[in-house]
Amino acid sequence: MSIFSNGIVLAQHKEPAFSRPLVCFTNPQTETLSLDRPPVRDIAGLSADDIVEIARAAQIVDERDGKLLHRKLMRVKGRGVAVVVDAIDDEPYVSSKINPLLKLREETAGGIGLCEKAAGTDNVFIMAYKNIGDLETRIPGSIEGYKISRLRGGYPARPQSSLLNIGQGRRLTVGVGAVIHLYRAVMQNKRQSTVFITVAGNCVANSMNMEVSIGMTIQQILDRCGLVDEPTRIVCGGPMTGIAIMDTDRTLVTYTTRAILVIRDSRRESGYNCIGCGRCARVCPMGLSPMYIRRFAQTQYYANLRRFDAHLCVECGTCSYICPSRLEVSRDVARAKAYSLRNIVGAQAQEVDELED
Ligand code: SF4
Ligand code: SF4
Repeated sequence: MSIFSNGIVLAQHKEPAFSRPLVCFTNPQTETLSLDRPPVRDIAGLSADDIVEIARAAQIVDERDGKLLHRKLMRVKGRGVAVVVDAIDDEPYVSSKINPLLKLREETAGGIGLCEKAAGTDNVFIMAYKNIGDLETRIPGSIEGYKISRLRGGYPARPQSSLLNIGQGRRLTVGVGAVIHLYRAVMQNKRQSTVFITVAGNCVANSMNMEVSIGMTIQQILDRCGLVDEPTRIVCGGPMTGIAIMDTDRTLVTYTTRAILVIRDSRRESGYNCIGCGRCARVCPMGLSPMYIRRFAQTQYYANLRRFDAHLCVECGTCSYICPSRLEVSRDVARAKAYSLRNIVGAQAQEVDELED
């Protein structure tokens, strides 16, 4: 890893969408889809079987893994396993789990209570990042009486391993969205017809978190947010694991859509200099120091690259996006990466081979 890996707070940079209100943009025709059963009047009188059956009727899909919630609940029903609520948005700019957790606290807490009841436990963990960069909003210690486990540390391995340790493998792990939809199915008799997404990127006029209808086109959502520039890349999902899409009129929002990122890669350099603000280092998901890598690549001072792990760059483009001087940081890091892979990493592997011989 980079020699700076231990010195940088690996905050999750979620601005500007994260701090803004959750915007509801739904199709009135699907919004009214209701369950073919009478509404629940006495939530305390519900059994675990009732909760599983309502989740099945509402066809709720957990956004974190694409699995039907009622099947997940059925597997843990009455077994006393821990309930882990996943609010970790483990990609830069995506905040479609933490935002509804904080904005829809009552519904989230109500849904967690139903999961607890179905699993026959009172052992609940809400997992979220503690460090979220440049924000007014702070992650609270609890919501509606449920403690939030605020994770620190490196992106993204440490939080994920924290999740894996809970309950020694015996647990129900469920996304915030699925929990909210379970509450609505029970209390409002609603089928799941919406998902929570983040819309962001340097072409989006109003980055925001939204609740949108499943089946809407990506274009409908982009029209709602507005674009300020012609994108070169539209990605469904995060910058690291998302899929580039070609036709926004024919690509639909699905149960597992968590983000739409609209990016213009080929902007021209502004002509300004690096001001050393360090924002690129703060947002880099790999814990690199892009400003130094860029400088050494530009001056062709390649001897120094060895210490900066340029080969670990995943080319997500986040450093360019955040740079206030509008510098093509990621392009230069990508060049340094290519050089490192050819000349440094290969040479190191050869040295190890020679030592072992
Ligand atoms: S493009 Fe590379 S250096 Fe820039 S933020 Fe992404 S991983 Fe880090
Ligand atoms: S974000 Fe841009 S201006 Fe700030 S340190 Fe990085 S390269 Fe320099």
